[in-house]
Amino acid sequence: MSAETACEAMLARLVGFPTVSSASNLPLIDFAAEHLSAHGIASHRVPNADGSKTNLWATIGPDVAGGVVLSGHTDVVPTEGQVWDTDPFTLTKRGDRLYGRGTTDMKSFVAIALALAPEMAAAGLKRPIHLALSYDEEVGCLGAPAMIADMRNVIAPPRAVIVGEPTKMQVVTGHKGVMGLEVHVRGKPVHSSVVHEGVSAVMVAARLIGWLGDRMERNRLAAATAGESLYDPPYTTLHCGRIEGGTAHNITAKDCRFTVDVRTMPGERSADYLAEFAAFAARLEADMHRVDGGTGIDIVRRSDTPSCRREPAGEAEALARSLTGDNAEHVVAYGTEAGQFQDASFSTVVCGPGDMEQGHKPNEFITLEQLAAGAAFQRRLIAQLAA
Ligand SMILES: [Zn+2]
Repeated sequence: MSAETACEAMLARLVGFPTVSSASNLPLIDFAAEHLSAHGIASHRVPNADGSKTNLWATIGPDVAGGVVLSGHTDVVPTEGQVWDTDPFTLTKRGDRLYGRGTTDMKSFVAIALALAPEMAAAGLKRPIHLALSYDEEVGCLGAPAMIADMRNVIAPPRAVIVGEPTKMQVVTGHKGVMGLEVHVRGKPVHSSVVHEGVSAVMVAARLIGWLGDRMERNRLAAATAGESLYDPPYTTLHCGRIEGGTAHNITAKDCRFTVDVRTMPGERSADYLAEFAAFAARLEADMHRVDGGTGIDIVRRSDTPSCRREPAGEAEALARSLTGDNAEHVVAYGTEAGQFQDASFSTVVCGPGDMEQGHKPNEFITLEQLAAGAAFQRRLIAQLAA
C-alpha cells in the first residue's frame, strides 16, 4: 500500500468514529492504541475525571531530547442542524475531495501520523517523534493540559511541537487566546410599579454587556493608531453571544444568564480582562446589595485557551519552515492547543493539512493534494530525525 493509500484508509477509519466532543473518544483511542501496539509502540493514557474520554501519547524512537511532538485533537464539532450530501461519519471520495466530519479539522493530520507510525518505528530515528492526541479541544481545549503536564514530566525535552490544525501546510506562528465566561445575575423580583424595591437581573446584565462593548471600543480606538497587524480585527474583542432572563414585562427579573467570549491578542492576558470585568461587576453588586443582600453577580470561567505567540528564534518555527519551505508570516483566526504547549515551555507552531475554510461546516472535506502534502511533510520529518 502506498503512503497516500494508507493515509486515506486510516482517515476513513478515524472519520468512522463519531467523536463529537459531547461523546466518548474511547473507541477511537482504543483503535489507535492497538494500531500502535501492533507496530511495537507503547502508548500512555491521560483520562478525564470520569474516564469517559482520554488523551493518548506515545514516543516512537529513542528516549532522548530533541524530539518532535505531533499534536492533534480527536474530537470533532457536531453535525446537528447541518444539511450534508453524504453521511458525515463515512469517508466519501468525490473527485479529488474526501468528505466527512473531521477530514479537515483535524483527523487528516492524526491519520497521517498513525498511518506513518510503522515507517517512524522502522526508520531508525535518532531523535524521537512523540504523538499527542487530545480530547475536548473543540469545547475550549480542556483535555490537552493534563497530557502536556504528563509528557513534560516523562519525556526528554522535545525540540518542537507541531500542532496539526489545518493551515494549508503554512507555518502559523500566532493566534488570539479565547476565554469563555458564564455570568449569572441574581436579582429580586417585584412588580414593576415598585421597581425601586426590586433588582432587575436583566437591567444589571445590560450594564455588564454594555461594559463589554465599551471596553472593546477602547481597544478598537487604540489599535487604530497602532501599526500594521496580521490580525483582523487587530485588537482584543469582547462579545456576548447568548442571553436569557426575566419572566414578564412588569416583573423585575429574578435571573439573567449570559455568555462572554473574550479573544485576546498575543501579549495581552485574559486574566487582566477578567479582573477588570469582575471589578466593574463588584461595583454594580454593591448597588444591588443596598436593595437586597441576597442578590448578586456570579462569574464563572468556563474555558481559557491561551494565545499562540510568535517566539523569538523559535525552534519549532525554524523546523516547520525547513520542512515546508514556507517563509512567510501567518496567523489564524481560530484557537488551538499551541499556547498551552508554549505555556509548558515547549517551542510550538501550528502547521497541518486542509483549509479551515471547510472546517465545522456541512460537507467538510480535504483535498487529496492536501492529504498528500501532509504526508510528505511528516515523511520529511522522519528523514530529518533519522539522519
Ligand atoms: Zn481543530
